Amino acid sequence: TPPSIIRNFCIIAHIDHGKSTLADRMLQLTGVVDARAARAQYLDRMDIERERGITIKSQAVRMPWTITDEAAAAHDTEAGTYVLNMIDTPGHVDFTYEVSRSLEACEAAILLVDAAQGIEAQTLANLYLAMSADLHIIPVLNKIDLPSANPEKYAAELAGLVGCEPEDVLRVSAKSGVGVEELLNEIVKQIPAPVGDADAPARALIFDSVYDTYRGVITYVRVVDGELTHRDRIKMMSSNATHELLELGVISPEQVKSDKIGVGEVGYLITGVKDVRQSRVGDTITTQNGAATESLGGYKHPNPMVYAGLYPIDGDQFGDLREALEKLQLNDAALTYEPETSGALGFGFRCGFLGLLHMEITRDRLEREFNLDLISTAPNVVYEVVMEDTSRVEVTNPSEFPEGKIHEILEPVVRATILSPSDYIGTIMELCQTKRGNLLGMDYLSEDRVEMRYTLPMGEIVFDFFDQLKSRTKGYASLDYERKGEQAADLVKVDILLQGEPVDAFSAIVHRDSAYGYGVQMVAKLKELIPRQQFEVPIQAAIGARVIARENIRAIRKDVLAKCYGGDISRKRKLLEKQKEGKKRMKMVGRVEVPQEAFVAALATG
Ligand code: GDP
Ligand code: MG
Repeated sequence: TPPSIIRNFCIIAHIDHGKSTLADRMLQLTGVVDARAARAQYLDRMDIERERGITIKSQAVRMPWTITDEAAAAHDTEAGTYVLNMIDTPGHVDFTYEVSRSLEACEAAILLVDAAQGIEAQTLANLYLAMSADLHIIPVLNKIDLPSANPEKYAAELAGLVGCEPEDVLRVSAKSGVGVEELLNEIVKQIPAPVGDADAPARALIFDSVYDTYRGVITYVRVVDGELTHRDRIKMMSSNATHELLELGVISPEQVKSDKIGVGEVGYLITGVKDVRQSRVGDTITTQNGAATESLGGYKHPNPMVYAGLYPIDGDQFGDLREALEKLQLNDAALTYEPETSGALGFGFRCGFLGLLHMEITRDRLEREFNLDLISTAPNVVYEVVMEDTSRVEVTNPSEFPEGKIHEILEPVVRATILSPSDYIGTIMELCQTKRGNLLGMDYLSEDRVEMRYTLPMGEIVFDFFDQLKSRTKGYASLDYERKGEQAADLVKVDILLQGEPVDAFSAIVHRDSAYGYGVQMVAKLKELIPRQQFEVPIQAAIGARVIARENIRAIRKDVLAKCYGGDISRKRKLLEKQKEGKKRMKMVGRVEVPQEAFVAALATG
């Protein structure tokens, strides 16, 4: 395919503004998916994506699009058939990293904004990413069919942001299809064709890799220079490892084999590699013969923001969990894991995530796709403890909090941007105040919409900040944040003891001012969650040796079965089954049975 007819683009938008729907409509209009085979959110292939209705993994798809003579005249471009490569990207704040990866494979970004909502904080974040990657931006308002749409207002807002005229902002309804043909024509007209040297040694950028149970590792690439053919042996430039190419091709909308892919093309490769670590996102692929000497820019590796322990309920599944994490990691470069041992939970892994949603989804996928039953501990951020002897300890798990003389504790800080109708300024300020926030500045985007900028301790916002912000603003505020260094803070470790024994999985690091309240709440919560046992169970919260809160779970005297002694067998069986059901997610901690919910109880506290 000559580069002159290729157009590579992605769609970036805030969650729910209609990316997936627009992608569906384009697939239909270009004839790649016919109306009968079409299902909603065609590109959201994972079950979780369908159920949650959100896009998690980027997907690339190739579509032919013909510019008729008429359209060519109207759009001042050349008639002919073009090849459009569309990459559907995720929109949630946890997945910014995925977006920045897929941006590297494109020349342009469609900035899609809901015409009834306007720009959201995440839209801004993605726009800045696209701009810093030097992409051409096509601003588009979606959902113009909605009665509540206000395209005039938001076209002006968008134009101001992108630096174009309001009439240059395209208007579509991804749902009904209005304006989408026009958009496809504009894509051909506005997006520059990819530039690369067809005669140079091959260089292709890996922008995604997935593990497929049947086919091994599938690697998604964008060819920058030269070409890859099915006869080539390829070389990974970071490791110099070489592999036979078993298959290559393009996705349209499923895999279609091809003999070669050249400059500007987006496609997939299969090398028969089963080891997921050999196909790293960001690596450059070249050919073994006539190899390139310099690799492409590559990607910045994202640092996890939140850590939590994942433990199999059944200790025998430890090996399976390791294997599952290994496979998921290929698919998700942002996920990290390391074995750890907990006195309470046994062998498991300390995993690093970009945020809470990322954590939730990873856990969900591990359980569904790999048939595991897991317990996760309360998530925490990473602290750095500077000791009086100037040694430093990185704490990714509260139970590792050092004993001894501490000079200071550094906590990670984020710079947060909140966009909201101005009515809610007061309540947002109040929320940020309780989370130890620091207002940096505030700007009016329009008469009734403001942008507020804060620095906030990451530990205060990763848990329930977003939910609280949403509920205080009736869902209108949006949030985006980025890591911005660290600050010293007066933090303490609060331990929770069951029957006088500290349970490592319950330890948390909190600010001294809220330690007491935290202890009281945790203890009350655990009393509620832990079922009564055959014996009394005291629960205590302590800072060091000082107990700050205490509750007792009273013993039950009789076995449940004793209630129906002598009586009817089937009722007994039912009771037993019910008991078994209830035990499913229980873990023995010492002699005490503790349910899964207890391990994340801290989430709902504070
Ligand atoms: P994404 O999160 O950006 O991928 O958004 P989706 O494509 O999943 O769309 C979110 C919701 O908006 C879904 O309920 C869609 O049916 C709806 N939606 C998308 N485009 C339009 C549109 O043009 N008009 C209307 N009325 N609804 C739309
Ligand atoms: Mg989507």
